[in-house]
Amino acid sequence: MSKFEYANAPESSAILNLQSRYQLFINGKFVAPKSGKYFKSINPATAKELAEFAYANNSDIDLAVKSARTALTKVWSKLPAAERGKYLFRIARILQERAREFAVAETLDNGKPIRESRDTDIPLAAQHFFYHGGWADKLDFVVKNPKPYGVVAQIIPWNFPLLMLAWKIAPALATGNTVVLKPAETTPLTAMLFAQVCQQAGLPDGVVNIITGDGATGANLVKHPGVNKIAFTGSTEVGKAIARSIADSDKVATLELGGKAANIVFNDAAIDETVEGIVNGIFFNQGHVCCAGSRLLVQEDIANELVLKLQRRVSLIRVGDPMDKNTDMGAINSAAQLQKINELVESGNKEGAQMWQSDCKLPTNGYWFAPTIFTGVSQSHRIAREEIFGPVLSVLTFRTPQEAIEKANNTQYGLSAGVWSDKGSKIMWTAKHLKAGVIWANTFNKFDAASPFGGYKESGWGREGGKHGLLAYLKAGK
Ligand code: NAP
Ligand code: MG
Repeated sequence: MSKFEYANAPESSAILNLQSRYQLFINGKFVAPKSGKYFKSINPATAKELAEFAYANNSDIDLAVKSARTALTKVWSKLPAAERGKYLFRIARILQERAREFAVAETLDNGKPIRESRDTDIPLAAQHFFYHGGWADKLDFVVKNPKPYGVVAQIIPWNFPLLMLAWKIAPALATGNTVVLKPAETTPLTAMLFAQVCQQAGLPDGVVNIITGDGATGANLVKHPGVNKIAFTGSTEVGKAIARSIADSDKVATLELGGKAANIVFNDAAIDETVEGIVNGIFFNQGHVCCAGSRLLVQEDIANELVLKLQRRVSLIRVGDPMDKNTDMGAINSAAQLQKINELVESGNKEGAQMWQSDCKLPTNGYWFAPTIFTGVSQSHRIAREEIFGPVLSVLTFRTPQEAIEKANNTQYGLSAGVWSDKGSKIMWTAKHLKAGVIWANTFNKFDAASPFGGYKESGWGREGGKHGLLAYLKAGK
């Protein structure tokens, strides 16, 4: 099939005033770390250094937690709720005003296409602040006599850096908590730009503190005795470690963890639309999506036709420079993640599944992986059980709706699922039997601040977004 060639349409990075070094954001100021140490974040599309970030050790963590406590008792808890809401609205508007700069920063640090950071990550981050700003003075509708937990430690992953920050900080502030947030080691840039936004919005000092570092920084933050609640998004493995580490304390936690979503296609589904939905479900954000539709379950009698159409569509995905506005799929976030993808793909080949890969040309520098589809996958294969967190789809087949449900639920995870059918009754029946927190019908990867998101089983505890997400930051008062 001939491929249509586009001219390059690169976004300019001139709007971003990139500093060579970023400090910690504690008590409303940018401060050098007590550790005296810095680490680098790279642009994964080039493997070149972007900037240096401060490494927070225990003394830095202590300062950040104390500053959040002082801000809580002296300022934040004394403000009328409607005043708290005004700060969230201000932050939302500044995010919109600086949207282009944030999109460029996110794409450079993370490797995702500018089209996605521009059209998804940044607008949704602003939406979360608008949405939660509206709730700040209406919390009595969520729970009787609402009270915040106090100081919240928030730890986020690298796949949607600013969006995950917004999912964490917006509800915490709306409910009257103060925050110490640690972004992921490979994507701290937009969190530091967000710290500038807090200053710009005149947010009282210490209400939001942002400390950069690695996994040890996160673990030590969780252990700090001044923290009342943990809100974590990341891997199931680290989520379990956090649950263990707070087991003998009175800290509470919400954990948003991994997933291995089943995307179920019945033989009466509109096939071309379904192909688009499958592509969006697994190749959006290079497949670095906790709720990615990574297990495609297809009714046996349409499997051949569907897979052929899928391969034809996937071979048209443009992989390359994330700053190019025509790019569909960008770089893998880090060398470590690329290695993990390679290892699991190798296991798929060894265990006997059949691999197909797009013949797209990959750039030579940086970290890349071609869109990949495995057919002939069985439930015991590692590629059907483990989270690959990359652009790799595993295709399994089923004959009856009951078999589809059994296969879909045969996983340790339960974050999301998709159902494709022409029949509303079949969709409702399937959704009723799926053990997944979010189920999309004839669509995939739709997000809204008003809609709760979260998992069953090893996909986590608690919900983010909507009224349910607010509950996670409130205790009922006496
Ligand atoms: P990760 O390794 O668990 O890291 C997540 C965050 O935790 C990072 O900031 C990390 O710091 C930090 N961390 C690492 N070890 C820690 C420890 N022992 N104690 C406290 N914090 C620690 O996960 P990831 O590889 O960045 O992200 C991918 C995972 O996130 C996938 O499993 C994905 O499914 C999940 N995810 C879930 C959701 C959801 O809403 N359910 C959303 C997005 C992603 P460093 O970066 O410095 O290591
Ligand atoms: Mg980076």
